[in-house]
Formats: sequence, structure tokens, C-alpha cells
Amino acid sequence: MDEQLLVSSSSQSNPSWSRDELILALDLYLRHRDALPSKHHQEVQELSVFLGKMGRALGITTAASFRNPNGVYMKLGNFRRWDPEYTKDGKSGLAKGNKDEEVVWNEFAASPVKLASLVSVIRNTVNLGEQLGSQLQQFDEPDIHEAAEGKVVTRLHRARERSRKLVEKKKKQALAKYGKLACEVCGFDFKATYGSAGEGLIDVHHIRPLHTLEPGQKTSLDDLALLCANCHRVVHASRHWLSLDELRTTMSLPTISPSG
Ligand SMILES: [Zn+2]
Ligand SMILES: [Zn+2]
Repeated sequence: MDEQLLVSSSSQSNPSWSRDELILALDLYLRHRDALPSKHHQEVQELSVFLGKMGRALGITTAASFRNPNGVYMKLGNFRRWDPEYTKDGKSGLAKGNKDEEVVWNEFAASPVKLASLVSVIRNTVNLGEQLGSQLQQFDEPDIHEAAEGKVVTRLHRARERSRKLVEKKKKQALAKYGKLACEVCGFDFKATYGSAGEGLIDVHHIRPLHTLEPGQKTSLDDLALLCANCHRVVHASRHWLSLDELRTTMSLPTISPSG
């Protein structure tokens, strides 16, 4: 199939660029910062094809071709105006674009190593696609804010912490070690509060930074933490997912359990 022939008419109906797409485009931008590649450049063409593959893997599009090379090229131009290296000479870059470009720029442009690592996680995950089964084809969950690092790693993270086998192993380990299932941040123990109705209840949260996930690799129990439903919800409540230490600092006062 020749995907390139279909690209020109589809851009109008395309949704605005997602986090994942902007992250990949920023990585390309930074690697060609001094002289932006044209739409005919091999890497621009490759990214255009890859964004289609990613869009289909995430269920965002069913189109054979999603972002055309010209769209990718334009997006690189959009990053220009946030680049102080470029604007210091009074130049302004392409004005149009979406405001997430600035957010993504501010979050990742100063951390090229983290960005490169994140890009490789996103790419490897999408490329593994079929091997990962339906992990990428999930629905967005209302209580889980998509992470700053994008939808691909958000879904990868959630697939890991919901893996029934891993969750059971983690709980078993904690029960053997501590004799109870308590939240690692606030100490809440469902069984202590709810009796037998709360037995076995606790969430499992994956603690590895998202840009260091390794798709297709076995998850170690040390990468998982036990959290009560409240703490877990707070971790994922905004685009910046809180680390356990951040969550501990956020909790101003220890909560007194209703049972006393
Ligand atoms: Zn808790
Ligand atoms: Zn989690």
C-alpha cells in the first residue's frame, strides 16, 4: 500500500496534535535545530508514517495516513517561536499552532536526555504494538489524568499496575512481610477500617519514571508500591503525576481514620 499518495486530503479532518506527537516532533526539532529539514527529508517522512502507526495503535485514527510530511514540517516551524536560540535575533517562527507546543517545549526542551529516553519508550511501545496485545487500545479513564509524557506511556503504566498476576504477587509479598496491606504513603489499611469487607483491598501503583519504562520487559515487584485508593487517585489527578515523596509532602496533616 502506498500511504504517501493518500496524505494530502486528510489533514483538514485531523485532530490537534497530541502530547505524544508533539514530544516526537520536538525531539526531531532539537536534533535539527540549526537547520530545519524540509518535508522531503527522510526523518520528516519517517515521522509522518510513524505518527500514523501510533494513531492507529492508540485508536485515535483509522486512516491509512494520519499526519502528512508537510504537517510534520509545519509543526517543526511552530516550535521555532519558543526557541530562544532562534528568537534572540528578532525572528519569530511560525505563528499558528496549538498552545501545547509551548507547554511541551517548556517541559522537555531543556532535558534532551530525558526527552530522548521518552521518545525511545514511545517508539518501542508502538513498534511492539501487537506483542503488547490490547495494552495500547484502552479507553481513557476519567480518574486518570493523561501524564505529561503522553498517552502511550500513560496506558503502558496502567496496563502494568492492573496486571492481575503482578498485583496478586505484590499483595502476597506484603502480607508475608508485614502481615497487612497498608498504603505506603498514608498507612491506610482497608481491613483495619472495614473489617472483612476490606480484606485484600489495596491499589498497586507502578513507580518507575515514565521515560524509563521498558515495553515488553518483565515488571519487578520493586517497581510497584501499594497505595490506598485515595492516594492513588491523587497521584494521577493532574498532568504531573506525583512521586510518592511529592505525595507525602502534599499531605499537610496525617488524616485521623473515622474508626479512631
Ligand atoms: Zn493512602
Ligand atoms: Zn498508578
